[in-house]
Amino acid sequence: MIVVQNLKKTFGTNEVLKDISTTIQEKEVVCVIGPSGSGKSTFLRCLNLLEEITSGKVTIGDVMVNSPDTNIDQLRENVGMVFQLFNLFPHLTVLENIMLAPKHIKKMDKQANEQKAMKLLSKVGLAAKRDVYPDQLSGGQQQRVAIARALAMNPRVMLFDEPTSALDPEMVGEVLQVMKDLAHDGITMIVVTHEMGFAREVADRVIFMDGGYIVEEGTPSELFDSPKHERTQAFLSKIL
Ligand code: ADP
Ligand code: MG
Repeated sequence: MIVVQNLKKTFGTNEVLKDISTTIQEKEVVCVIGPSGSGKSTFLRCLNLLEEITSGKVTIGDVMVNSPDTNIDQLRENVGMVFQLFNLFPHLTVLENIMLAPKHIKKMDKQANEQKAMKLLSKVGLAAKRDVYPDQLSGGQQQRVAIARALAMNPRVMLFDEPTSALDPEMVGEVLQVMKDLAHDGITMIVVTHEMGFAREVADRVIFMDGGYIVEEGTPSELFDSPKHERTQAFLSKIL
């Protein structure tokens, strides 16, 4: 589904992604862990061209991401993204937030769009909140709406960048539960997270990044129970 070959990204003279290569299968759930500043967000952002790729090759499905004739809108339709901060449109209701992109980008018929939006809202447990504005929701609820909004475009892959990091602790569980449900539905997911319990339980594969490299990757049990690389061991010993 996603092939990344020798991806490099520099900001000025700062080489942030040094040589990233990996392949992500359809329906695979991959968690990316690593210290702050290791390039995790930049990696995700290169996958949907929120950052320009300096060199290397990224393909998602049959779309080559960094080719001059890539249709960025089409690419982003295929790649849903959920951020640490929910970024809902404050002046739109929950339902309107979810219906916005399908309406403008897909020109989806209003009735079908609303039906779909309600289905997604039910999926994240918020059907009753359809007509309220984001500021009337808790952080956890807002993040669940943001997930529903990303799903509304039927993306082929969902990227999550620390989706629970900005939440009060009591709201983390409800968001992780929604993500677990998506994983069970077979949605291809790449999740940058500090939630090691989630990674262990839900990920098919865990990638450990440090200093702009993938230092080590493997199944959760390989990575957490018998990390091979010294840097992985040092990182895990600090957080587990
Ligand atoms: P992580 O998500 O693992 O914490 P990031 O990908 O956010 O790491 O950042 C990796 C490095 O890239 C950091 O040193 C950061 O300062 C730098 N960086 C990220 N975004 C930019 C940017 N837009 N301009 C310049 N430097 C950036
Ligand atoms: Mg980050």
